[in-house]
Amino acid sequence: MNKRNQVIPVAKNQIIEITIHALGHEGQGIGKYNDFTVFVPEALPGETVEAKIIFVKKTFAVAKLMDIISTSEGNRVTPACTIAKRCGGCQLQHMDYQAQLAFKRQIVIDNLQRIGKLTDVTVHPTIGMDNPWNYRNKAQVPIGAAIDNEAGLVSGFYAIRSHEIIPMDACNIQHSYNDELVVEVRKLAEKHGITAYDESTHKGLLRHVVIRTAFKTDEVMIVLVINGKSLPNQGQLVQEIASLSQNIKSICLNVNKEKTNVIFGDETRVLYGEDKIFDYIGDIRFGISARSFYQVNPVQTEVLYAKALEYAELTGEETVIDAYCGIGTITLFLAKKAKMVYGVEIVPEAIEDARYNAEINGVDNVEFAVAKAEEWIPQLYKKLGNSDSNDTDKDERGHECNSLPEVIVVDPPRKGCEQELLDTIIAMKPERVVYVSCNPSTLARDLQILVQGGYEAKEVQPVDMFPHTSHVECCSLLVRKDN
Ligand code: SAH
Repeated sequence: MNKRNQVIPVAKNQIIEITIHALGHEGQGIGKYNDFTVFVPEALPGETVEAKIIFVKKTFAVAKLMDIISTSEGNRVTPACTIAKRCGGCQLQHMDYQAQLAFKRQIVIDNLQRIGKLTDVTVHPTIGMDNPWNYRNKAQVPIGAAIDNEAGLVSGFYAIRSHEIIPMDACNIQHSYNDELVVEVRKLAEKHGITAYDESTHKGLLRHVVIRTAFKTDEVMIVLVINGKSLPNQGQLVQEIASLSQNIKSICLNVNKEKTNVIFGDETRVLYGEDKIFDYIGDIRFGISARSFYQVNPVQTEVLYAKALEYAELTGEETVIDAYCGIGTITLFLAKKAKMVYGVEIVPEAIEDARYNAEINGVDNVEFAVAKAEEWIPQLYKKLGNSDSNDTDKDERGHECNSLPEVIVVDPPRKGCEQELLDTIIAMKPERVVYVSCNPSTLARDLQILVQGGYEAKEVQPVDMFPHTSHVECCSLLVRKDN
């Protein structure tokens, strides 16, 4: 029967028995009821469950897990966290960790096949963590008003698909410093009568407390995101926060007066200490400021970057572009093994950090640009394509800028690369493209474009940067076919 004419075999509130055969991309169980797709969050493949239909659409329904009748795979575990069911942060805590890793690999394979039509790419088993807990270096915690206490504040996490704050003082995937400091900062804010921001009325001051802990140095940055220009008793409050721990090296204020879900506003001021904290990835030292992107799982970041470097196969002679370079993390690793690396990134503060990081590590075969990758790389190509190859175009440090890159690394945000960038890569013909991605669906779309443009997608290595969530990071290697 044509899907469109399919009779919908379930109705709201109906209780059904259903066997789960797969997991959706957000970790929800998927089963068929009389050939009709039903999503059952929290149910796992191999389980036959009783579920109550909560809503019905034309092509699928969503049901609430009521009871597990039987299971054939035995991947269910008791979540370590008592609020795992309600919190929107982790989607897979009820699943055995090894099964999570297999699930993430399967998501990548499914996306490559369904979206990218790529069936012969080697997708390696996901590289997991020995200890997949307390791995996050950054907490971004919303603050709300306590319902039972007018002057009180709560800190916690948003419930699934909502902005209701679930009060929570300890998160099992956070570094313990972050958890402890959020609670202490919230208590101090409460003591000074600071109000919580209310999304519905756009009133109240404190929106988020953002805390980043550098795992290798223990340095901590605290950012208070507020709907205003300053805090009451600001000087005293800041001193009290600073005295919570000698690891606190930076306290910043970020002004966000917009009606938005975006956490940070444009203005950041340092209230105490430095504008950055320092961390190491491998033996490279990085300064990280409040607005700069920095991978949240430092242990797996080393795994991911090592893979990117391995795929780049550098000999020391290459010109390399690192697109979406952030604070120059991958760039500086590449620079150790390349002749010259160009990093491009859209956030000016991140590029300030990147230049500073190159300097403190004594790396001088790198150049950074603040620009959109999809604009800067086509411009560079135009310039190089038009320049006389005998006429060496030297930059201010004397580097030769007249050769096309042999390797391009891209590490875009979730929406993937813009078409203009992919077109330029195809035209520039680097021998290798290393594509680091946090979203398998845009990865699959972009790999298909590169494959159609003359590349072979050789292999994809999923790395578990976000244990217990449904997110998966990948490092992929593409090689030019006509080389
Ligand atoms: N490679 C870095 C950062 C990856 S995150 C690391 O591993 O740390 C993606 C980065 O892309 C972010 O820093 C973001 O600010 C930047 N970005 C987003 N859109 C961009 C664009 N159109 N052009 C260049 N950079 C962009």
